[in-house]
Amino acid sequence: IIDPEKGSSCQRSATFCPTGAISKFTDKDGTFGVEHFPGDCVKCRCCADICPQQALTLSDEVFAVDLLSGAVERYEMKPLVHPVDDPHQIWRTMKDLLGCDQVYER
Ligand code: SF4
Repeated sequence: IIDPEKGSSCQRSATFCPTGAISKFTDKDGTFGVEHFPGDCVKCRCCADICPQQALTLSDEVFAVDLLSGAVERYEMKPLVHPVDDPHQIWRTMKDLLGCDQVYER
C-alpha cells in the first residue's frame, strides 16, 4: 500500500525493488508515479525500508485473485519539489530531508 500524498515522489521504492514488483511509469501527458504488481512481490521490505517518508506499508493480507489475475495497482505522484533536470537536485533534496542548511556540494 503506497500513500502518494505522504511520499516525496522520489520513486526510490521502484529503484530498489529487486523483483520489479514496483516500477516507474511516466505517461505522455507528464503524469508519473509507480505501478505495483502484487504477483511479483516477495515481501522483502526493501521498498518500505528505503522510503524516507514511510509512505509504504506492507499488507499481511494478499488476495489470491490479485496474484492470479496479474493485477496492477497504479499510484500517481505529485510533481517533484526539485525536478530531476535541476543539476542541484540531490543537494536541495538532502537539505530538505535533513532540515538543515549546512549541507554542501563539491
Ligand atoms: S516488498 Fe515487494 S514491492 Fe517491496 S521491494 Fe520487496 S519485492 Fe519489491
